[in-house]
Amino acid sequence: MFKYNQIKNRYQGLAASDGDGVKLTRIIGSHQLPELDPFLLLDHFGSDQPNDYIGGFPAHPHRGFETVTYMLKGKMRHQDSVGNNGVIEDGGIQWMTAGKGIIHSEMPEQTSGLLSGFQLWVNLPSDAKMTAPKYQENTADEIPTEVHTNGVQLKVIAGTTTQGTAGVIENNFVNPNYWDVSMPAHSNLSEQINPDHNAFIYVYQGQIQLANHQQLQAGQLAVLTSGEQLLINADQDSQFIVVSGLPLNQPIERAGPFVMNTREQIQQAFDDYQAGVFAQ
Ligand code: FE
Repeated sequence: MFKYNQIKNRYQGLAASDGDGVKLTRIIGSHQLPELDPFLLLDHFGSDQPNDYIGGFPAHPHRGFETVTYMLKGKMRHQDSVGNNGVIEDGGIQWMTAGKGIIHSEMPEQTSGLLSGFQLWVNLPSDAKMTAPKYQENTADEIPTEVHTNGVQLKVIAGTTTQGTAGVIENNFVNPNYWDVSMPAHSNLSEQINPDHNAFIYVYQGQIQLANHQQLQAGQLAVLTSGEQLLINADQDSQFIVVSGLPLNQPIERAGPFVMNTREQIQQAFDDYQAGVFAQ
């Protein structure tokens, strides 16, 4: 008998605003779920009202972790202080290792009036917090997609599925899985997640059931128990992300866009930012 991954806790996102008035739903990184080691934040932004997002995220710094932007619909134009720029298109991913620090802007652009996507923050281990900044950026076409005979589809951004589909993103710090799964009504999926990982599922469309008939609806995040088998049934056409990674088990000191291990390191980040160190 397998030990199944089950739902340890469910969380409903909280309405929040960030950047220049961008309305979003904060699911990890609020008082109800401050972090799920190694994940520091999960925002779901989505609207058909340009005024909800068009202000975007003007120039701001990051240090000590990675920001992961996955666009379901719409585009995100980004530009940083050392001259990198580009556009994450519909279905594309940007995995940015901020490391010792970058200053960037992220400006949304709609596609047919729609903008929808996720930003996830992944912590870096203490010995990599001051690593050189790095980008991994891939279009929708470059993300390996696994299609099952029952119509279930997994877009494998990071990690490797049971069938051996390997993601396009490399991260040797926490060896994450990041899968965008779509399931037709009345289909099922069986997967495995490293039992040493912390794992969550966030449903953004439809409704699914885990083993033991535990329900999870659109807009809900489930923190999973460790297990040998992840079993999912979809009652209706459903879409969700499955994300997991090795916990770092290190002290977390955070202040806005900086996430370090000690207060002194946070103060240093503010000092460096004021001194213009980030812009070089
Ligand atoms: Fe940012």
